Amino acid sequence: MTERLVVVGSLNMDLSITVPRLPGPGETVQGADVVRGAGGKGANQAVAAARLGATVRMVGLLGDDAFGTELRSCLAGEGVDDRAVADLPGAASGLAMIVVQQDGENTITLSPGANRHLDVPALESLTDGPLAGPADTVLFQLEVPLPTVMAAARAARTAGALTVLNAAPRPDPGPVLTELLGQVDVLVVNETEAAGLLGLAADALHGEQDWTAHAERLRELGPATVVVTLGAAGAVAAGPQGRLRQPGFPVDAVDTVGAGDAFCAQLSIALGAGRPLAEAVRRACAAGALAATRTGAQHSLPTRAEVDALLARAADPADAAASGAGTEVRHAH
Ligand code: ADP
Repeated sequence: MTERLVVVGSLNMDLSITVPRLPGPGETVQGADVVRGAGGKGANQAVAAARLGATVRMVGLLGDDAFGTELRSCLAGEGVDDRAVADLPGAASGLAMIVVQQDGENTITLSPGANRHLDVPALESLTDGPLAGPADTVLFQLEVPLPTVMAAARAARTAGALTVLNAAPRPDPGPVLTELLGQVDVLVVNETEAAGLLGLAADALHGEQDWTAHAERLRELGPATVVVTLGAAGAVAAGPQGRLRQPGFPVDAVDTVGAGDAFCAQLSIALGAGRPLAEAVRRACAAGALAATRTGAQHSLPTRAEVDALLARAADPADAAASGAGTEVRHAH
């Protein structure tokens, strides 16, 4: 699997402080030492894909500040091609200030910074030529302006590339989103995002049993293939060949940050390489499960060898506990 993956998206610095309890308005609470980590859904998915063995190009904007320099070196250190990532003069890099209560409850304040300035002219100047080639896969999220994602999806489509949208964070419905969904081949959402796209309240579908039917309804919005991630329960998918359910891999989960990003990266690589949907979803669930066993965003992302090892263990009938097996494919009529 050495297909080229182009990721158009956000880059953020995450600053986290763990506190005994979250401060109220006007209150100061002392916490532990600050933990700094590279983040942003775009950069996380680019780094995830590189660790999973893909050739990756990132397209995005950083500020011209110290965080930008650090974020760029994180990308380059993972072997991600950063030539289409520019430093925007006078801008601050994207920043997430995360306060985590000891029981895991958290608050996040996000400053999109340079990500907010990734408009259509900026996108065009960054890529200096076609965004992607016909054999490439292009992966987007929604942490950069929607019209830019739309333009990138259209350019990727025109080039004949496979387009994958991780519609996160949960989008607000509107005409641009509707048009965007018509430009993507593969849509990946979690339960909350799925509900949003179906015009339902965030928690309307929690505990839902028949997720494959909802995946099928999401296909009616445009994407030929829809994958819904269900946390520890795994994922469901619906595509032209039918519906499937992939149970989660049983792991000792400590922190699910990064799980969705690992999932999206692995799914995109596998589908880009022409693997069948059931195999791609199974691999993606393995990548997500491994990311859940470690703390942090980019720090927790697994390598290709780790995914291969988990899949090999799961395929071994002697190791039933790691099986996560039972992929059931029901063909569409
Ligand atoms: P998001 O963080 O975007 O809401 P999910 O929580 O659905 O995404 O996680 C993405 C994928 O990661 C899931 O489909 C699943 O395969 C895997 N995963 C997440 N949490 C766990 C867990 N606790 N145990 C096993 N797999 C998990």
